[in-house]
Amino acid sequence: MKKIQMVDLQGQYQAIKEQVNQSLTEVIESAAFVNGPQVHKFQEELENYLGAKHVIPCANGTDALQIAMMGLGLKPGDEVITADFTFAATVEVIALLQLTPVLVDVEKDTFNIDPEAIKKAITPKTKAIVPVHLFGQAANMDAIMEIAKEHNLYVIEDNAQGIGANYHFKDGSSIKTGVIGDVGTTSFFPSKNLGCYGDGGAIFTNNDELAYMIRGIVNHGMYERYHHDVVGVNSRLDSMQAAILRAKLPNLDAYNNARKKAAERYTAAFKDNKHIITPVILGEEDTHVFHQYTLRITNGKRDALVKHLQENAIPCGVYYPIPLHLQKAYKDERYKEENFEVTNLLVKEVISLPMHTELEEEQIAFITKTVNDFVGES
Ligand SMILES: *Cc1c(COP(=O)(O)O)cnc(C)c1O
Repeated sequence: MKKIQMVDLQGQYQAIKEQVNQSLTEVIESAAFVNGPQVHKFQEELENYLGAKHVIPCANGTDALQIAMMGLGLKPGDEVITADFTFAATVEVIALLQLTPVLVDVEKDTFNIDPEAIKKAITPKTKAIVPVHLFGQAANMDAIMEIAKEHNLYVIEDNAQGIGANYHFKDGSSIKTGVIGDVGTTSFFPSKNLGCYGDGGAIFTNNDELAYMIRGIVNHGMYERYHHDVVGVNSRLDSMQAAILRAKLPNLDAYNNARKKAAERYTAAFKDNKHIITPVILGEEDTHVFHQYTLRITNGKRDALVKHLQENAIPCGVYYPIPLHLQKAYKDERYKEENFEVTNLLVKEVISLPMHTELEEEQIAFITKTVNDFVGES
C-alpha cells in the first residue's frame, strides 16, 4: 500500500505533468510573469465554468475576502455576521477593516452557518452576511438570501472550500456556489479543491459596477494609470499560477467526483458504527465537493483517535479545534456561551480523514478499519 497522505499533490501532478511543464516553460520564455495572457485566459475559463459574469483573480483567498468587503464599501463599525466554526481568515479580514465581526453558531448536521442564529444577530448596524461553504458543502442559501433580502444585507460567500459545488434552490434552479450572493471569493491554496502550486485566489460577481470597483482595488486603487481614486491593495495572481490552474480547471469536476467516491466509501464503512456520525449531504449530491471528509466521534474518543491514527501512519486533522469566539483575537464580551452550543460541541468531536483525488480503495479500507477497530462499534 502507498503511504497515506492527507493531500496527495505529487500523485495528482503526474497526470497533468506534461501540460503543466509545457505551459510553465512558455510563461518563463515569454517573461510575461505578471498580468500575462495566462491570467486573462484563466479568468475567462473560470467565468465560463462558474457561470459568473466577472472573475477577478488575486493573490490569495484571504485577500479575496478583504477586497470583496472593500469593494462593497463597508465602513468601520458596520456589523458583519459570519460563522463561529470556520477558518480564521473569514473573521480576520472583517476585523482588519475595522468592521465589527458578529460570530454566530452553526448547524450540527452540515457544520454550516445557522440561518436562525443569523436572524437573531441582526441589528440596525448589520450590513453583510458571510456564509462559508464549509468542508465543501453549500450553506443554506435559500434561507440566507431570503434573510439578506428582507434586511437589505450584502451576502459575501466564502467559497474557498466549496469550488465546483452546485446549490439547488427550492424553485428548482441551480447555481454554482460563490456566484449566488453579491460577491463570492475563493482560494487556490495548493490543498484546496482547485489548488495552484503556491498562493492564489479570486473574487466572483455578476455585478458590473462592483467588478469595476474591485478591479481597481486589486491594483492600488487605480482606474486610470497613476490616478489613485480609492485606497487599494496590490493583490495579483501570477502568470505561473494561472498556467497551472488552467491545466487543472478542466479536471475540477473529475477531481470533485473522485473526492465524492472516496467519501462514499468512507461513509459506507462507518454506517454501522454507533459512535460515529458521518457527513450529512443535504439535498442533491453535488451540493458537497468534500474539501474535507469530517466525522463526529461521539463517545469522547476523538483526541485518543487522533493519536492512534498518527501511530498508524494515517494523517488526520482537527478542523477546527477552537471556536473563533474563544480565540484571544476575536473575544467579545457580547458573546454568550449558550449561543455557541453547536460549535462548542463540534470542536470536541470532529476529525477530518485523508481526502484527495488520489485515494486508493486499499488505503480507505485500512483507514476505516483502523478507525472502526479503535472507536468500537457498539
Ligand atoms: C483557505 C481558506 C481561506 C483563505 O485562503 P488563503 O488562500 O489561504 O488566504 C479563507 N476561508 C476559508 C474558509 C478557507 O478554507
